[in-house]
Amino acid sequence: MKEFDYIIIGGGCAGLSLVYELEIYKKLENKTVAIIEPRNEYKRDKTWSFWKVVNHNFDDCLRKSWNNFSIKTFSKYKNIKCDKFPYQSIDSGLFYKKINERIKKNKNISFYKNIKDINTKNSFIFNSVPSIIENKNNFWQHFRGVEIETQDSFFDDNNINLMNFDCEQRNNVHFFYILPFEKNKALIETTWISKVNDNSLKDYNDQIKNYINKTLGLKNYKITYSEEGSIPLFYPTNVRERKKINIGTAGGMTRISTGYTFLNIQLQSKYIRENIENIENANIFKLKKKYKFLDKIFLKVLENHPNRMPDLFFNMFSCSSSTVINFLSNTSSIIEDILIIFKMPKWIFIKTIFKK
Ligand SMILES: Cc1cc2nc3c(=O)[nH]c(=O)nc-3n(C[C@H](O)[C@H](O)[C@H](O)COP(=O)(O)OP(=O)(O)OC[C@H]3O[C@@H](n4cnc5c(N)ncnc54)[C@H](O)[C@@H]3O)c2cc1C
Repeated sequence: MKEFDYIIIGGGCAGLSLVYELEIYKKLENKTVAIIEPRNEYKRDKTWSFWKVVNHNFDDCLRKSWNNFSIKTFSKYKNIKCDKFPYQSIDSGLFYKKINERIKKNKNISFYKNIKDINTKNSFIFNSVPSIIENKNNFWQHFRGVEIETQDSFFDDNNINLMNFDCEQRNNVHFFYILPFEKNKALIETTWISKVNDNSLKDYNDQIKNYINKTLGLKNYKITYSEEGSIPLFYPTNVRERKKINIGTAGGMTRISTGYTFLNIQLQSKYIRENIENIENANIFKLKKKYKFLDKIFLKVLENHPNRMPDLFFNMFSCSSSTVINFLSNTSSIIEDILIIFKMPKWIFIKTIFKK
């Protein structure tokens, strides 16, 4: 069986981002790579969005970029400018196409469906398949989004609705997320933060239909695309082994308070590329400990006080937009962290820290 210098398990966001980063920085000229990916074809399946706080390789895969976003609760509405850090949406279909077109020119890179088809004995492995142990106490962010098209102009395509909590909560945390790509095209997503095994929250199609018909007052539209998923709001149990590094969600790149992962994956790929010559001895790229600590407390508060979350998010956004964006994108200074902490209901957080 064939041997490879590097094996990438999972050709999704992290696996492909890494191979692309290594390829464009010419780190694969004398190296062989096997990508293990079971899917039969690459097509658009996700919309990756984030505030652009650092540069990345995929500006040409953008669906759209915005300089304004809004947040809404039952009683309050806030519009926030983010010119300094625009909110970007990447079309995964364009991302897969760009990377696959580039790497197919390198004969040293091959795809396999199953790791059993190759010899892994002497390879260095980058694994992006998370090990998840079922635990009914774990939180997930789960959602379904549909892209709709209307005949006439309907949406304000300059402003995304990041979180609209003005919808039924069913004792969990629920919001709608709207990305208006054009005046007549938008992705409308129903998003829950809950312990996912509760199927009573998964009547997504009814939720979306209701929202479009009743909240937006829109009757004539057609659905052109849909995506569904769940993001673990806990760390998978993958551990580092000799000659193996976990990447992407498996490598702890998800912010467990928000689900944002895409930009962290890009930073992790860059770090691996910078250290590839000595990868066996390099430190592991990790999110800063302070975010892990604060996110865990945040989720504990969410578990005990789901009904407080709309106001809590709303208050967080009353800091300056760059402070919140830096905090949510892991680039905040200590001063910015303190500003965010001061916006939180202090007693609830203090009690949560000391509660077993
Ligand atoms: C629908 C959706 C929307 C999201 N939107 C955002 C967003 O807006 N912003 C953001 O920051 N994050 C978002 N995320 C979270 C995160 O960015 C994505 O989940 C991202 O795809 C994670 O990259 P990954 O490589 O870790 O996992 P994946 O992209 O899921 O890649 C894992 C790959 O492994 C393959 N695989 C599975 N089993 C095996 C196996 N046994 N052997 C080999 N390969 C296998 C899969 O086919 C897949 O291609 C979203 C997640 C989902 C599901």
